[in-house]
Amino acid sequence: MTEHCIIIGASHAAAQLISSLRQEGWEGKISLIGDEPYLPYHRPPLSKAFFVGEKTEDELLIRAAGFYDKYKVDLLLGSRVTKIDRDAKKITLENGAEISYTKLALTTGARVRKIPFTGCELPGVFYMRDLNDVKQTHEFTGRGKSAVIIGGGYIGLETAASLRKIGMSVTVIEAMSRVLQRVTAPEVSAFYTRIHTEEGVDIRTEAGVDAIVGDKHVEGVRLADGNTVHADLVIIGVGVIPNIELAEAAGLTIDNGIAVDEFATTNDADIVAAGDCTNHYNPIYQRKLRLESVQNATDQAKIAAKSICGKPEAYSALPWFWSDQYDLKLQIAGLSQGFDKVIIRGDSAQGRSFAAFYFCEGRFIAVDAINRPKEFMMSKRALTAGQNVDPLKLPDESIEVKDVFN
Ligand SMILES: Cc1cc2nc3c(=O)[nH]c(=O)nc-3n(C[C@H](O)[C@H](O)[C@H](O)COP(=O)(O)OP(=O)(O)OC[C@H]3O[C@@H](n4cnc5c(N)ncnc54)[C@H](O)[C@@H]3O)c2cc1C
Repeated sequence: MTEHCIIIGASHAAAQLISSLRQEGWEGKISLIGDEPYLPYHRPPLSKAFFVGEKTEDELLIRAAGFYDKYKVDLLLGSRVTKIDRDAKKITLENGAEISYTKLALTTGARVRKIPFTGCELPGVFYMRDLNDVKQTHEFTGRGKSAVIIGGGYIGLETAASLRKIGMSVTVIEAMSRVLQRVTAPEVSAFYTRIHTEEGVDIRTEAGVDAIVGDKHVEGVRLADGNTVHADLVIIGVGVIPNIELAEAAGLTIDNGIAVDEFATTNDADIVAAGDCTNHYNPIYQRKLRLESVQNATDQAKIAAKSICGKPEAYSALPWFWSDQYDLKLQIAGLSQGFDKVIIRGDSAQGRSFAAFYFCEGRFIAVDAINRPKEFMMSKRALTAGQNVDPLKLPDESIEVKDVFN
């Protein structure tokens, strides 16, 4: 049988996998099957430039249509894979068609976590994951209209910034005591609360949602304290869950995501997985991680392609991430979870630029750099090399960044 690699999920990881497969010498057939009707596209602009009309749909594409011709990829878009038969080495589509593979790549990503709030089915209530979600919001946006965002994480805050940019009044409802509580230090949360407040966003923390209210369409969000916040649009951003069901039903090992080894390979040697759907061991942090980032989708896909081509290489990348809000470019290197000390360089209480360096038991583990590209770059390099940093030098801005890291 001719070699045939099927990729399930027209995703960030898939786009990378295709070019890496050909670069690594894969001469067999490649099929890309995705349930969305689109070629793989960049999701980050959905809450940013695309949301405010600064990017077109075409500009979202990770690779233009010609790329898939050039790399000889059979595209099956708008088709959902419903079953993997590992013994027969074939997959089944929702229309019943079966396709045989010799290698399979799962890049099924993640989907939004849904909370069944009363009223969540009203027109004007959206989640934010897919291009279709965002296209539908446009009917409910417009200068002078009101929006409520449920969830003060990165996506919620980015969307808040975008809605302010187009002249809407915005309220963010966060259940915890501060925004970004799960992912940043209190100083960073306080900074974003200050900036959003200065930009006109009403941020309500420790606020529970009782119900989304409205008659024919959404009209507001009733909070647990009995107050109702008016809304023409509600966006819910309360996290994602990995798409593991297909893999699970096929008997692949699941452990908070599709379990893969350092070669992005599942417990079936002919099936790899990459991106948001996976859980892998990270040697830098010496623990298992399920990451939700473009960096991981892209870097892990390169490793998966090498495995498919019989050139295994262990995955050992430093996680990094970014978030754009207003004129603020937040760049994150490393993982701050578990930190016991934070050092701030710059003034987080005023202005719009500083860096927060995270330590755990004296070891430098991560940085949040806001409009501080040098701090980000130097930290990324140090974290990748396992180099520690002198916490006493970090806050001293009279010492140049490069000298802090020497
Ligand atoms: C609004 C928004 C903003 C973001 N901003 C940032 C950012 O600033 N920086 C950053 O690093 N990351 C950001 N992210 C996260 C980033 O987009 C994800 O980490 C990335 O998309 C993960 O890529 P992936 O390859 O794992 O899969 P995904 O991009 O999730 O794609 C998976 C695809 O597989 C499809 N699929 C699933 N099951 C099947 C099936 N059975 N059959 C066929 N198709 C299937 C899905 O429908 C989907 O199209 C953002 C995400 C969103 C939604």
